Amino acid sequence: MADTLDYPALLERIAADVAALVGSGTPAEYIPALASVDPHRFGMAVAGLDGTVHGVGDWEVPFSTQSVTKVFALALALAEGGDSLWERVGREPSGNPFNSLVQLEYENGIPRNPFINAGALVVTDRLQSLTGDASSELLGFLREESRNPELSFDAEVAASEQEHGDRNAAVAHFMASYGNIDNPVPALLEHYFWQCSIEMSCADLARAGLFLARHGLRSDGSRLLTRSEAKQINAVMLTCGTYDAAGEFAYRVGLPGKSGVGGGIIAVVPGQCTLAVWSPGLDAQGNSVAGVAALDRFTTLTGLSVF
Ligand code: GLU
Repeated sequence: MADTLDYPALLERIAADVAALVGSGTPAEYIPALASVDPHRFGMAVAGLDGTVHGVGDWEVPFSTQSVTKVFALALALAEGGDSLWERVGREPSGNPFNSLVQLEYENGIPRNPFINAGALVVTDRLQSLTGDASSELLGFLREESRNPELSFDAEVAASEQEHGDRNAAVAHFMASYGNIDNPVPALLEHYFWQCSIEMSCADLARAGLFLARHGLRSDGSRLLTRSEAKQINAVMLTCGTYDAAGEFAYRVGLPGKSGVGGGIIAVVPGQCTLAVWSPGLDAQGNSVAGVAALDRFTTLTGLSVF
């Protein structure tokens, strides 16, 4: 069905449908670089399995990917290190805010899932042990899969994350006290903040995420993940990828998705395409208001979903 869709017309229609929502919600305010972004931005891109990308609005404008990178770090950590990662991080929704500490004490320093900050710190720690340079490894992977060698870290965002990083530092030290962090916490945090700062456009993200739609195959045809691992990551995205609104996202959109506080969301139609959307205004749970609405329109208009 996806092959016969007129993507340019579809994207124009979706942009028109959600136009009234663009600018609603509130951009993330915890660091100046995010707080100062124009809330009226909106972009959306769809990448087909062959890498062809269509887009609308600000689909080629780079933005701060933030937690969207957590899905790529997870894929790399699993690809390089295998299943033993799951001894250190769970696969259940947390029902708590993404930066919460409370559950960690009850659950002996094992984070609920790889997409809350605690879980992502464990993933980056694993990637650091496996590669010796987690953030560069991730950036290199994203450059290759997006076919955009210009992708880079945003040094200002990384520095701001560090400056406002007490909560992440607390989470990392707390897990280290349970023996669930292998690298020195300051070095781990640095890689994590660089990871959060990576700038990408919707076009970059949609292309970079295609390995999840291709059941684990990279853009050069080589295998990153087994079919089963790709399914597992998609499943964790569906259940845990959109903060503590994953149930609502599944209900409305019906696709695996991962959001970030920069206002970006990536979503996957396995076997068909990858979508990326960006609009900085966030709802109370931290998901882009216009972004979720646009993905909702996409699956409603096309009937493409995992259900
Ligand atoms: N840099 C943010 C943090 O770790 C990421 C937040 C997000 O996008 O969820 O607090």
